[in-house]
Amino acid sequence: IAALSTSGVAVEVVAQTGSTSADLLARAATLTGPVLLVAEHQTAGRGRAGRSWLSSSENSLTFSLAWKFAGGPQTLLGLPLAIGAALGDALGLLGVQVQLKWPNDVLKDGDKLAGILVETQAAPGGGTWCVIGIGLNLLMPDEVEAQLGRSAAGAPWLARMERDVLMAALLDALANCLRLFEQQGFAAFCARWNLRHAWQGETVVLLDNGAVVHEGRAAGVEETGRLLLDTEAGRITVMAGDVSLRVK
Ligand code: ATP
Repeated sequence: IAALSTSGVAVEVVAQTGSTSADLLARAATLTGPVLLVAEHQTAGRGRAGRSWLSSSENSLTFSLAWKFAGGPQTLLGLPLAIGAALGDALGLLGVQVQLKWPNDVLKDGDKLAGILVETQAAPGGGTWCVIGIGLNLLMPDEVEAQLGRSAAGAPWLARMERDVLMAALLDALANCLRLFEQQGFAAFCARWNLRHAWQGETVVLLDNGAVVHEGRAAGVEETGRLLLDTEAGRITVMAGDVSLRVK
């Protein structure tokens, strides 16, 4: 994997670390160009709001990509969704059909196959460093599911691929995605996201700290990445804060 480098992205591989995103964020002030950091084993993977991402060395792909954007963090609100759409298409080309759950999950047959976490930091001299962390399950061992307390998806077909080839395909898709996002924002990905929307037309509830704050039919996302929800009181748009979506 260390020999892999595409489109000017420096590639680093470590045998083990706590979190590839934490490592890149800690170095963001000193980075001079995009960096992909792959961990063969990640011991303290992160999700949103302090949640954790579990992985096992044999059975997961865990990596983060640091990328600098010229704009401020407010220009990056749709980025996790754009990455979901790009990852969805890349996995589809590799033979694994996935669906997207707003705002940041990749599902296969209704279970989580991959997680996407986007974290930002102001860049010295202007712009924003963005660290995109991705955890992808290849095989999902029973122990990890037992630890999670819920089912999760694996992709045995991808587990049979050479790790380098898989990583190269995903890096290529991500680099293209980030360049297009920089030029056109989420609008360029909106239609692709909606094509893979896991719960289109289904009744969902939106949870904030475990409490239901909205209920309605999921109607996809609009061009800034906000979720459209048709409630009894009419259509509302929802920003991706720390809210979770559940199908009812
Ligand atoms: P939710 O799925 O509850 O809406 P979320 O999308 O915000 O939350 P994330 O923060 O993106 O979740 O991911 C962390 C969550 O993912 C954990 O709380 C755990 O339930 C689940 N999880 C952790 N590791 C894995 C894994 N390897 N495969 C599938 N799911 C996982």
